Amino acid sequence: MGSGASAQKTIYLEVDGKVQKINFSPQSNGSDIKQILRTSSRLPRQASVILVDNRGTLIAIDPTIPANCQNSPYRIISQDTSSRSEKEDLFQTLLAQVTEEFTRAFRISELKREVYERLTALEHRVEAEGRRAIDIDKCKLEVKKLRDELEERSNRLSCPCKYYRSGDIIRINPRRDVPSYPKYTLSSETIETLKKPTFDVWQWEYNEMLSCLEFMYHDLGLVREFNMNPITLKRWLLCIQENYRTNPFHNFRHCFCVTQMMYGMIHLCELQGRLSLMELGILMTAAVCHDLDHPGYNNTYQINAHTELAIRYNDISPLENHHCAVAFQILAQPENNIFSNISPEVFKQIRQSIIRLILATDMARHGDILESFKQVVFNFDFGKEEHVKTLQMMLIKCCDISNEVRPTEVAEPWVDCLLEEYFMQSDREKSEGLPVTPFMDRDQVTKPKAQIGFIKFVLIPMFEAVMKLFPQIEEVMVRPLQEARDHYEELMQLEEAMVEVQQKRAEILSGGGKVK
Ligand code: 5GP
Ligand code: MN
Repeated sequence: MGSGASAQKTIYLEVDGKVQKINFSPQSNGSDIKQILRTSSRLPRQASVILVDNRGTLIAIDPTIPANCQNSPYRIISQDTSSRSEKEDLFQTLLAQVTEEFTRAFRISELKREVYERLTALEHRVEAEGRRAIDIDKCKLEVKKLRDELEERSNRLSCPCKYYRSGDIIRINPRRDVPSYPKYTLSSETIETLKKPTFDVWQWEYNEMLSCLEFMYHDLGLVREFNMNPITLKRWLLCIQENYRTNPFHNFRHCFCVTQMMYGMIHLCELQGRLSLMELGILMTAAVCHDLDHPGYNNTYQINAHTELAIRYNDISPLENHHCAVAFQILAQPENNIFSNISPEVFKQIRQSIIRLILATDMARHGDILESFKQVVFNFDFGKEEHVKTLQMMLIKCCDISNEVRPTEVAEPWVDCLLEEYFMQSDREKSEGLPVTPFMDRDQVTKPKAQIGFIKFVLIPMFEAVMKLFPQIEEVMVRPLQEARDHYEELMQLEEAMVEVQQKRAEILSGGGKVK
């Protein structure tokens, strides 16, 4: 039962070299606070004001304005009435921020070099000590200590708003805003191929992928249906892109692939006539958000390593829960909320469905979801909510793991990316003394080994189940999967033949003297 006075917010402001204490009530909105600031600085009513802290960082003027202390007061820069020196001031502070960013980037690259040098030195020691058969555990411990120390230092260096492991801070405000993300006019050829699984997802850079995604929302009629502000759509997409990390596999291009395949399936399966625009919007938005802030290490690692995510979500689909939470943290920002113009009831429904779909991408639930779809597929009824829900889950699952549906030259580089990420995980599991996930072990996995089982036992059965409802996917999705399976089986035979040849060669070389 706090009194009004105790709920007041206090900030300190420097005006003409003197520090002023300013109190305002929590009920004050942004323009109230601006007016208080203008009055305190003796500025005219119309003057627009910019608030900076003592490091020159711009401070948003709204009720969430952070409290500061007397010896680090805020300063005001008035835009309309600013004198030449104030403008120079602003320029200087911006320049200082840019310089700071550069310095940080430079220090990070120095840190990387140091990591490399120290790891190389350590590797040499491990090798030497290994030769002397000396305590490997001691070395493991040192690797772990080194990793922790470097991680800690690199976290301190990296941008404070970047989400890493410590929780709730995500990159809500993109580093670049909408104007620096140019409008691309897509050629009619691009627009046509964008609807097909044969679309080459590798030839586009970030801005182009953003434009394609933006186009899909307009083209499907989602912008009109949800009364989206087109600028908010652009800003939301930018923010989404910035919240995908640069992992070898789970990165923004993967997000783009999954969403493009969803857009393709919507056309191929003629879903525009069968599902409502709301259901299509849910499918597309779940696809866009489905791997947000993926750290590059899967649920097994999260759970075995007792990471913050595993603890937070009690080992229950920690990653998928996290992707979803980040998605809604982004949408909670008014400037990024593409659903800000719909009623709370509709938003609630959209939220529930997106959560359901993103959680369905956990492969641990694959068998159960496929089974429940098989139960309904033979008497499928688009009028039954439960049937549609199961279908939506199957669609996002299909798109999520659909790389092998694409032409070989598009699909195959994704396997390299996946293996790179797998090897990063298994190397880390080994160095941390955790159980090593066998299909991720660089000593055991090859490309054909990774793909044959996955295509035969996961992909083909799943797409064949969907084919029961949409026979038209046979030609464009199931057939390429069968071809990919045959391609990798051939590769496997080649690999085995190579191993045999090498063994024979070794035998001949070692026994060569005796034979002669
Ligand atoms: P995610 O939601 O993580 O993108 O996809 C689910 C999981 O399916 C991936 O983490 C990966 O383990 C697996 N997966 C997706 N595509 C492929 C693939 O082409 N080959 C193999 N072996 N696994 C895949
Ligand atoms: Mn995914």
